[in-house]
Amino acid sequence: MSDSFQDALSGLADIVGDKHVIASGADQEPYVVDWRGRYHGRAVAVVKPGSTAEVAAVVKYCAARQLAIVPQGGNTGMCGAATPDDRAGNVVIRLDRMRAVRDVSPLANTITLEAGCILAEVQNAARSVDRYFPLSLGAEGSCQIGGNISTNAGGTAVLRYGPIRDLVLGLEVVLPDGRVFNGLRALRKDNTGYALKQLFIGAEGTLGIVTAAVLKLFAPPRSSALALLKLQGVEQALEVMQRLRGVVGDRLGSLEIMSRAQIEAIAETVPHVTIPFELTTPWYLIVELTDTLPGVDLNEPLATVLAEAMEAGLADDVILASNLAQAKAIWAVRHSVSEGNKRSGYVVSHDSVVPLERQAAFVANVEARIKAAVPHARVVMHGHIGDGNLHVIALIDRAHCQDPAATAALVAEINEIVDDETAAQGGAISAEHGIGFTNRDRLARVTDPLDIELMRDIKQLLDPNGLMNPGKIFTAGGARR
Ligand code: FAD
Repeated sequence: MSDSFQDALSGLADIVGDKHVIASGADQEPYVVDWRGRYHGRAVAVVKPGSTAEVAAVVKYCAARQLAIVPQGGNTGMCGAATPDDRAGNVVIRLDRMRAVRDVSPLANTITLEAGCILAEVQNAARSVDRYFPLSLGAEGSCQIGGNISTNAGGTAVLRYGPIRDLVLGLEVVLPDGRVFNGLRALRKDNTGYALKQLFIGAEGTLGIVTAAVLKLFAPPRSSALALLKLQGVEQALEVMQRLRGVVGDRLGSLEIMSRAQIEAIAETVPHVTIPFELTTPWYLIVELTDTLPGVDLNEPLATVLAEAMEAGLADDVILASNLAQAKAIWAVRHSVSEGNKRSGYVVSHDSVVPLERQAAFVANVEARIKAAVPHARVVMHGHIGDGNLHVIALIDRAHCQDPAATAALVAEINEIVDDETAAQGGAISAEHGIGFTNRDRLARVTDPLDIELMRDIKQLLDPNGLMNPGKIFTAGGARR
């Protein structure tokens, strides 16, 4: 290790303490590789500050020495956005020690916490005061609120509560020069000038490090009902949604769709998940209704609407969960999609969102075009159908992905098909996962040049030296192996 890196290690240790700095080597490995194991970077140190003041001091230290900073949460992101690139002078900052819940207010319906809190801990903290934090996703046992905010995470409750952008009231952020933006206010209404906090939500750590947040809470669902529908196509799913909305309104909490091929990939590869229904149709829809009042019979309206839907030929079969265990078993399938895909082959994943009325055309075109262009690809789909957000995934046998250049060409070809179709249907290439490394070339290709120019201007204003998570969102070097 060079003298300057040795100096950096001891300088960082002076700020956070020896045991909270991990030098390069085996102990660093989990922090320099992304969740899919696709990107592998380098770092002079992984640093775990214990307070906002320590984060600010570490950032100032790095800025003074031109060390690049990579904020990292639970490292469950899908786009390589939390992985350092292949320069040696990166410092990964993790907030694992910043997990304090500073305040939970049933009066204001808010929770104020440090950004290293694990999502599941936040859900539990809300539950402890008889409140509900609705963000829910497959990685909730390990992803952090700072990461959720920085990716503007979506998940399975967006239909009713929106993405995390709709749940954030206030933010504290350490800026790339070490100053602290103190927007940690629990105000429901605040029209004082530009909504600065919004800039940091979904910024993928490129504009600063989120250190604390005030989030909205809600009354917990105390009654629920869940059904699984077997369907011929996504247009039927959308028709069922329309009928449900007309009857149950906001009680429609989740609407998640999976293709048969998607469920088969899970069945074949995830040993701890059993598929609790037979696969007899091309599509499967999970419908969940919730109500905040206890003892509300939601099965009755759900069964009525779904029986009518079956009569109208919209569903081939309906399974109403008769107890919590059955509902959990159905959710377990949905929560295993990422795991199943990762185990099934090389994943070429997409996060498209298209207007609801164009979903059916999008699905049909994109599947036909990928299969025609790459016959050995297995196309699986799942998504938050009510939000218009479908994940189209091509699973490629790893035997076809031995040569990095050929794999890159294959991925580019599939991406181009999906991007073409997404644009043709008036959609966008990322609904919830973000851009990171994986999608930055695609962003440049499909985005209005003025949008990119404005984004670059904002980046330049806050981070003129380009040290905050460099190479993410915008092309600037790379760490692709
Ligand atoms: P990381 O992966 O560590 O980081 C993500 C980005 O945020 C990076 O750019 C990083 O630099 C930045 N970042 C992290 N912490 C901070 C901080 N404190 N300040 C500033 N920047 C920061 N996503 C969805 O939206 N919906 C889903 O349904 C969903 N399901 C998933 C299921 C599984 C099984 C897995 C593995 C992932 C899933 N994801 C989903 C993706 C991922 O979990 C989310 O993107 C999550 O929000 C990332 O949080 P994290 O703490 O792991 O962030």
